[in-house]
Amino acid sequence: TEEMMIRSEKMSVAGQLAAGIAHEIRNPLTSIKGFLQLLQAGVNRKDVYYKIMIDEIEKMETITSELLFISKPLTDKKQEESLLEMLEDVMELLKPQAKLKNILLEVDGEDRLIYCDRSQLKQVFINIIKNAIEAMEEAGKITVLIQNVDTYVQIDISDEGPGIDEEVIHKLGEPFFTTKQQGTGLGLMITKQLLERHNAKLDILQNEIKGSTFRIVFPT
Ligand code: ADP
Ligand code: MG
Repeated sequence: TEEMMIRSEKMSVAGQLAAGIAHEIRNPLTSIKGFLQLLQAGVNRKDVYYKIMIDEIEKMETITSELLFISKPLTDKKQEESLLEMLEDVMELLKPQAKLKNILLEVDGEDRLIYCDRSQLKQVFINIIKNAIEAMEEAGKITVLIQNVDTYVQIDISDEGPGIDEEVIHKLGEPFFTTKQQGTGLGLMITKQLLERHNAKLDILQNEIKGSTFRIVFPT
């Protein structure tokens, strides 16, 4: 398969990314071209074709804007930041999306100051909490738990979604790995890179009862 080939040739990350981009852009382009040809031939059901084409274009738009974010040279502006403040900012931003699904966002634990780039860390929280919201089919709760563990701050973001299949857990964070119709599969890759810049680690755990927990272990 394509995937095995990529592995065996030990393609560089840039090469992998380029191959992924080509693939991700070519498919929608091929389908848009096909539908345009049908329209040119004068078919009925134009509305259906327009809708599909717009969806495909929107997907390419999302991918390209996320790629632009990756290619931006990041300058770290690290300083002591309040963890709670950053989380509250992010929750404010995601509240409308959560409310639509009757999902409650909650923070538990005491505030900590951590040395980080505020906008980068907020992006990390946005990506993970957004995924949690998207994973949940029905009403429920997403909890962020802040804990001190030895010389680390541990931030657990738990959802009540379906959890993640054992077979795909290791694929999370690979560029373009997505199980969503309109997903880009770039969110967790970006998240991992941003955490690496902070010497922080991401663990993905299965909850006992329901859903999954994305655990960030942050050095202090
Ligand atoms: P995208 O959100 O565009 O699919 P991501 O890199 O953010 O890309 O996530 C990759 C995949 O990881 C998702 O498609 C989904 O299958 C899985 N995933 C991420 N977070 C969760 C979660 N909280 N619960 C279940 N699956 C998740
Ligand atoms: Mg995502």
